[in-house]
This record gives sequence, structure tokens and C-alpha cells, in this order.
Amino acid sequence: MKSRMMLGLLASMLAAAPVSAAPPPPEVQSLGNGLSVLIGSSCNVLILPGDTGVLIVDDQRRSTFDETMAGIRSVSDLPVRYVVDTHWHLDHSGGNGSFTKAGAVIVAQRNVLVRRSAEQYMAPYKQHIPADPQESRPVIIFDDSLDLRLGAETVELRHVAIAHTDGDTLVHFRNANVVAMGDVFFNHIFPFIDRSSGGSIQGMIKGVETALAMTDEKSRIVPAHGPVATRAELSAYHDMLLDVARQVQTAKRKGRTLEQVVASHPAAAYREGMEGEEDRFVEAIYDSFGHADLHHRI
Ligand SMILES: [Zn+2]
Repeated sequence: MKSRMMLGLLASMLAAAPVSAAPPPPEVQSLGNGLSVLIGSSCNVLILPGDTGVLIVDDQRRSTFDETMAGIRSVSDLPVRYVVDTHWHLDHSGGNGSFTKAGAVIVAQRNVLVRRSAEQYMAPYKQHIPADPQESRPVIIFDDSLDLRLGAETVELRHVAIAHTDGDTLVHFRNANVVAMGDVFFNHIFPFIDRSSGGSIQGMIKGVETALAMTDEKSRIVPAHGPVATRAELSAYHDMLLDVARQVQTAKRKGRTLEQVVASHPAAAYREGMEGEEDRFVEAIYDSFGHADLHHRI
């Protein structure tokens, strides 16, 4: 009797265990000129098929490889040839090993290679991240800029210094009139500035200004996190960064401590519709000022 009950239970569990347990298909939006963006669970991924292979910008985490591939396969059956890392963080470059095994080459700014070649420590999360194995590291390296041609598209990679990290790249798809910003632009999220990876508020502002200079009012701006934006939204984000930075800089010059500045909530006016960690954003700005190693001043 007992075993029959168990069999019955097992049968009902099996019936409930869905053949449809597969995750829902990933959301992929067309941006025109053959370019698409996967709204990924770890970060947004740009997908551009060329004549013989696909270029992607960022490859999410190792654990979301299947999702990333499903997004790519929804627009092209060609092999993935190039993966551009916008920076080294693992929600953007964690898939490098899997894509390398599948035959892709990783393209990145030199500091991404430097950081992925040694253990990293992310101070805000108290997290040690081991070096990537040799075969997963970037292969095509640039310092300031690199252009890639794929089909009819020219993809311009432009390094912006000491912004979200010390190895950020903006990716400009000329014909599609799209700029992928990586984590230099968080849309509707208080930005994370990774000071322990060489990021700074001054570089974030400069990086956004670089993107504004390469776009027009018809451009689409793709943040790594959050929805695709207009140039006007990027401009508003720039003004927000500048306003909060100026408030924090003024307070620090007056001798206010970090605790006092955080408690004064200089970013409070921007809370509506925002996610993310407001206090951590303010702390990173406070920490960005007064360091001799910073080249850019407001
Ligand atoms: Zn990041």
C-alpha cells in the first residue's frame, strides 16, 4: 500500500515535472542593420552576425552560457567568432572560457587581460576572484582604440580610462548608430564604480562625454544593465553624475567625513525609478576625490 502511494506520488510528480521546464526564450530586440541585443539575466549582450561569423559584446556569466547561446541562435546559426569584453567583471566576461572552447577569440582592452591574468579582489564585495586560465584570456588586445569590420558594419572599440574600471570599452556600431556602454552607463540604476579595479567618478563622467560626442539624437544607447536608452537619457545620466559629484566634492573640500556626506544623501533627488545602491555610489564618488593618481578633475 505504502509503495503504491509512493508510486502514485512519483507519478504525479513526474506529471507535474514539466516537459516545459526549459527556461523561457531570452528576450532579443532588433536594433536595425543586422544588430540585436539580448536582454540577458546577467547583462545585455550585443549580437552582430557578419558574413562568416558572429561578433558579440559581453558574454555574461559562465552559468548563463546556454541563455547567451540561445539568444545568439535566435538571430544567427553562424559560429561566434569574436567576443568583445567591455571590462573584466564576471557578469560580462564569465563566459569567455566557454566561448573560447567554441572557437571564438576574445577582444579586450589591455587592462582586461592584465586583471584576468591575476587574482582580483573586489573590495565592496570582499570577494577574491581567481585568474582565468591562459586559454580563456583575451587574444586581441588594444590600448586606446581598435576597429573591426564585419559584413557592412564597422565596429569601433574606444577605451575610456579609469571609469567603471581601468579597462572599459565603448563599442560604437557606426552604421546601426548604436553605442554599447558596458557598465559606464547604468540605466535607471545607481551606478557601481569599482574603485578597487581603478574606476573613478571623473572617468565615468569623461566616458559618458565621449559617448555623447560620438552620437546624435537618433542614436540608441545600450547600457549593460537596464533598458536600451536614447541619447537624451544618456545626457540626463551625465547631468546626474556631474551634479552628485559636485555636491560630494564640495562637501569633501569643506572637511566633511565620508559618513557625513553619505548621511546627507546627495543623490536623493534622483531616487525615483532608480534601483541599485545609492550609498555605495556616493562612497565611491567621495573616495574618487583627492587621489593623486587621478588625471581628470571636475
Ligand atoms: Zn561591471
